[in-house]
Amino acid sequence: MKNIKDYNLEELKQELISIGEKPFRAEQIFKWIYQENVTSFDEMTNLSLELREKLKQNYTLCIFNILRKQESSDGTIKYLFDVLDGNAIETVLMKYHHGYSLCVSTQIGCKMGCKFCASTGIAFARNLTSGEIVEELLAVERDQNIKISNVVYMGIGEPLDNYDNVVNSIRIINNPKGINIGARHISVSTSGLVPNIYRLAEENIQCTLSISLHATNNEKRSSMMPVNNRYPIEELIQACKDYIAKTNRRISFEYALAKDNNDNLEDAKGLVKLLKGMLCHVNLIPINKIENGAFDKSSNENIIKFRDYLNEHGIVATIRRELGSDIDAACGQLRRKNLQ
Ligand code: SAH
Repeated sequence: MKNIKDYNLEELKQELISIGEKPFRAEQIFKWIYQENVTSFDEMTNLSLELREKLKQNYTLCIFNILRKQESSDGTIKYLFDVLDGNAIETVLMKYHHGYSLCVSTQIGCKMGCKFCASTGIAFARNLTSGEIVEELLAVERDQNIKISNVVYMGIGEPLDNYDNVVNSIRIINNPKGINIGARHISVSTSGLVPNIYRLAEENIQCTLSISLHATNNEKRSSMMPVNNRYPIEELIQACKDYIAKTNRRISFEYALAKDNNDNLEDAKGLVKLLKGMLCHVNLIPINKIENGAFDKSSNENIIKFRDYLNEHGIVATIRRELGSDIDAACGQLRRKNLQ
């Protein structure tokens, strides 16, 4: 059965026309799904019984089951969702003083093979559909009875390796008649799939782009992230510059600090040289140790030194708060699960 959450508003209008219905019904259905967050077609009481029956027969609302919910001492909650085909993925809810932020997964598994990330440990199964990505958010809102204010595409998977579904999910989340989260409150993170950075620049979506950089020379970056062999740093940085020129949006570079690997003064100097003059911000992430992982966390002292060096040399840098590491919900700690 088709998942009704896979359609953006325009597509749903077309879909309804194709089954002999009036397109304005799409807005009514959108409201029930994304604003009322209903779990059945029966609750859509301004639709005729006949239409509700028709919807029931042709579409699913794709309601995820919560398999497990773990709460961190810092209030972060990690969900394990049954995505209804024998696979399970993780989604993380973080509470900030300015609201709730949700970290969504985009794929069941990940093909990128980054050496420091647990998401890569189990074989890739498939892409999530846009409706499934959106359902991660709706399922958490239902469970907590809250409205989420920020969405970060930083869970399991490489968002730009599931390009169409990710972009479509952003359109649904961003649509004022859908979930209505402003594009500036949506961040997409990529390990650096250069051609799709160019495509994203053309979409006219004002979301924030985050780039997982982690090293400033090709030898080191390739040893940490195999994707760098395909799209080396020079090409990646050029794509970022073009993205900024096209969108006028500031890029956020993520840099996970691993002890004695990429956290010394030479690396900080390299970063300044690489990013000087760009409209950007550096997010330093104390690397989280993963099972069998090759990297250890930098000392706090070193992390602060690294940040200060960047700030003193004209690069705005902040240290990302570590949330949820006691429940393996922090950056790089999410994994797909197999239910069979
Ligand atoms: N595949 C996308 C989305 C993942 S976002 C990407 O690579 O950008 C998750 C962020 O956490 C990325 O910046 C990733 O590089 C970083 N990360 C992965 N493993 C980590 C770890 N063990 N410690 C800290 N950050 C990590």
